[in-house]
Amino acid sequence: MKEFLLSQAVGAVHGTYHGDGAALLKRVRGVVIDNRKVEPDFLFVPIKGERFDGHDFIPSAYEAGALACITERELQTERPYILVKDSLSAFQSLAEFYKGLFDVKTIGITGSVGKTTTKELISSVLSQKYGVLKSEGNLNNQTGVPLTVFRLEDHHDVAVVEMGTNHFGEIRNLAKIARPDFCFLTNIGEAHIEHLGSKEGILKAKSEMLEYIKPDGRVFVNGDDPYLRTLKEARTDVTAFGKDPQNDIYAEKIKSKGLDGTDFVIHTPDTEFPAHVPSPGGHMVYNALAAAAAGLALGMGPDEIALGLAAYKTIAGRMCIETRNGITVLNDVYNANPGSMRAALDVLAYAEGGRVCVLGDMLELGEKAEQYHRELGAYAARRADRVLCVGTLAKHIYTGAKEAGAEAFCFGTQDELLAKIRGLVREGDAVLVKASRGMRLEKTVEFLLK
Ligand code: ATP
Ligand code: MG
Repeated sequence: MKEFLLSQAVGAVHGTYHGDGAALLKRVRGVVIDNRKVEPDFLFVPIKGERFDGHDFIPSAYEAGALACITERELQTERPYILVKDSLSAFQSLAEFYKGLFDVKTIGITGSVGKTTTKELISSVLSQKYGVLKSEGNLNNQTGVPLTVFRLEDHHDVAVVEMGTNHFGEIRNLAKIARPDFCFLTNIGEAHIEHLGSKEGILKAKSEMLEYIKPDGRVFVNGDDPYLRTLKEARTDVTAFGKDPQNDIYAEKIKSKGLDGTDFVIHTPDTEFPAHVPSPGGHMVYNALAAAAAGLALGMGPDEIALGLAAYKTIAGRMCIETRNGITVLNDVYNANPGSMRAALDVLAYAEGGRVCVLGDMLELGEKAEQYHRELGAYAARRADRVLCVGTLAKHIYTGAKEAGAEAFCFGTQDELLAKIRGLVREGDAVLVKASRGMRLEKTVEFLLK
């Protein structure tokens, strides 16, 4: 953490300072929203969550040595505090100020699916040459992005920041904090359509990032996505990547290596070079092209880029492939929506033995949820030999799969599934397990790998 003065914090959040003048000249050594992480001379920012109100932990923060708190409530204390209207937006304003203390190239990533994967791939490539700060795991929301920013240190050359949204205005907020030099938009799918209305709405929400792009910045989009292609047509600062040779950066000679990943050749306006991405699925080629584009934009050469792509590692729950007792489990339990479900089923189709999928509910899909599940069932029927469905909405996957002629089974709960699964999975099978986070299908993965 780069230290700054408490007085600077007061200015950054436009708050009202209560406390003695001497404290204003003290240095803030850290900023946290979790009172358990407070250390001496830290600034504690209590946030109101669904279950807890951080304000209740202000006394414990002072006990742990907090220099001051930012609070929405007046406090009966001698200790310094900064009174604000909204502590979350104060936290964000402070992050914006903190980010401004650094001269780092910043990469913002948004889109319906593939943000975290793209973030990891971009980081893997850029780490070959630069000191990289990346969002941890999936911390992409209104507190996650500020928390990422507060991890910036002087040794970082590049920050790779994932930005997620399910409402209008959120990406704008996050972009204002991060101030991207390079904006990456992965694709426009159905995720979060419940709040954003339509794919046009989703494009609009994601495009909010461009409102805060740095003056010499550039935008990178998947040019094979019909919605994102409209950005390429509308702006002069857009680089498109994809499998279509009309893109500025494109992949050809794409050769699947089964579950080991994909070989392909990357074409850029200046050169072409071979690459391998060690994770299966056609969608990984797009994510790899995004990473190559980031490397090129930051002056990296083909060899460094190819090394960085080959060094990519999946993170927990995202298409982690593991074989035990003759069964290969494709663990993609982290989350799901129609686009990512289809991508995962495409990966399953690369498996050589029997193909089984365990699919659970996709949440937050709004009015068309039933239709999306049913369509997915038909899609699964074409890629898996057996379709096992678990959950309330997943019964529509079952219906769709049955209608398409698949061998399908339906279970109301995960426990009912686990009671029967041994009889439905055989040695030599590959089993894809995927659903929305709330379904907690990691239990099925553990069961299969036991
Ligand atoms: P979240 O909204 O949960 O943050 P995300 O956008 O970060 O999701 P990832 O976690 O990277 O998405 O990927 C989720 C799943 O989507 C992957 O496991 C994979 O199946 C699929 N996926 C990844 N990249 C793409 C892509 N470019 N196009 C379509 N599907 C993809
Ligand atoms: Mg993510």
